[in-house]
Amino acid sequence: MLHTLPKDDNYIHKGLRKQLIDVLRQKGIKDERVLAAIEAIPRHFFLDPAFERQAYEDRAFPIVADQTISQPYTVAFQTQMLELKKYDKVLEIGTGSAYQACVLAEMGISLLTIERQKALYDYVGQFFFISRYPNIKRFYGDGFEGLPSYAPFDKIIITCGAPFIPPKLLTQLKPGGIMVVPVGDDGQQKMTRISKDKAGHIHEEDMGEFSFVPMLQGKNSK
Ligand code: SAH
Repeated sequence: MLHTLPKDDNYIHKGLRKQLIDVLRQKGIKDERVLAAIEAIPRHFFLDPAFERQAYEDRAFPIVADQTISQPYTVAFQTQMLELKKYDKVLEIGTGSAYQACVLAEMGISLLTIERQKALYDYVGQFFFISRYPNIKRFYGDGFEGLPSYAPFDKIIITCGAPFIPPKLLTQLKPGGIMVVPVGDDGQQKMTRISKDKAGHIHEEDMGEFSFVPMLQGKNSK
């Protein structure tokens, strides 16, 4: 399961990242802070070296434990929808490769991220790049439960397809907060932006169709 991670981030990778930023702009990503964070993070560090050349194509890729690293456009779109402010406290469900986590952390927020698969949680732990971000705290657990002892959160981002809006996460969202969650069954989900107003009322916006691996109940210890 362990593989040697490429440590070199050279002018070729940086050039490919600039091209990726152009693609993301063409697809409608406008938040310059999101684009700057994606430009700063060497996505090829998060993939098996076999995919190094393709790391800057706008595509999802397989990682360990049958999971995927999200497509850059999806990472950018979800991040943009969060309307992050510096020092926001953000909860992410589905650490996966930790690429999305690093993009968020690069934007100066404080991130707590939960992964349900022990294999992935351990895998990311031996990954040197994440140590650049002391503002990331990782947890092995079930995202449906959230992190009650750290709540409330300014923003919540779910990076797996949720069968329904997890009620405990809604409770852990601050009034004035935003939660971005792909909702739907296996295969196809509706990206949903949920805003909780100051009075605690919930507003939902449909932001289009996306496809994620499923959000599953409980922890997996393998
Ligand atoms: N944000 C990740 C995307 C990984 S894919 C990245 O940038 O690479 C989605 C991840 O969600 C998978 O790793 C999967 O194991 C995890 N997941 C699924 N259900 C979960 C749950 N209930 N709690 C926490 N993580 C979950």
